[in-house]
Amino acid sequence: MQAIGKVHSPYKEKFAIPRQPGLVSAAKGKIELVGEFNQVELVRDLENYSHIWVVFIFHGTQAQGWKPLVRPPRLGGNKKTGVLATRSTFRPNPIGMSVVKLEGIEHKNKKVYLTISGLDLLDQTPVIDIKPYLPYVDAIADAQAGFAQQAPESKLTISFNENSKQFLAKAQAKFPELSQLIEQVLAQDPRPAYKKSKLDNNAYAMTLYHFNINWQMTSLSSVEVTAITELSTSN
Ligand code: SAM
Repeated sequence: MQAIGKVHSPYKEKFAIPRQPGLVSAAKGKIELVGEFNQVELVRDLENYSHIWVVFIFHGTQAQGWKPLVRPPRLGGNKKTGVLATRSTFRPNPIGMSVVKLEGIEHKNKKVYLTISGLDLLDQTPVIDIKPYLPYVDAIADAQAGFAQQAPESKLTISFNENSKQFLAKAQAKFPELSQLIEQVLAQDPRPAYKKSKLDNNAYAMTLYHFNINWQMTSLSSVEVTAITELSTSN
């Protein structure tokens, strides 16, 4: 097997990536077809599908191997479950699969790009397959889903201090969805699961695109973005 594409994602590090696709709709990215697979023929008619399956390698955690039992964050991080009963990245074969929205297909300068949204993928993720999402077979309304029957509920309210509001106003022209992206990512509460019900005075930082975003909890259920700065490299 070889990679047929690579992901360009606003998520430059593992921390703060949503735990499944579709939870952060403001996250937009691209899949670039690579090598001999960079041919528009491979995606002919794919634009007729609103969603696609992206099959990929968990390249960021691959080197850490796997264990038969893992601790899913949804269970507070303190109950062990069989790895094959979870969507953990630490699997015998480090293969992930995500349904994402297909926003469009671009073919320019001899390069084929699929624009996608709602992704849960780290930047530079190698893609090994893409398939159309077929609701009649892939969506089973009455399926049982163990501890993950529903999407995680978000109970956090997000606010921006004056400085970060000013930063967002300036970035608006080039990154119109940045504030929505930050809000949706923070609403998922990216902190480790064991922190959730405890008062937390830590200062946190995450990277989205080439922005460094600082934030902290102001109560058990509220978050304030305290600073946004630009990192030197842009993407
Ligand atoms: N939807 C996929 C699945 O079910 O196979 C992935 C689910 S996994 C729980 C989602 C997490 O994988 C993200 O929160 C992020 O931390 C991690 N992740 C995403 N891309 C990755 C990559 N290329 N390498 C390692 N970890 C990655």
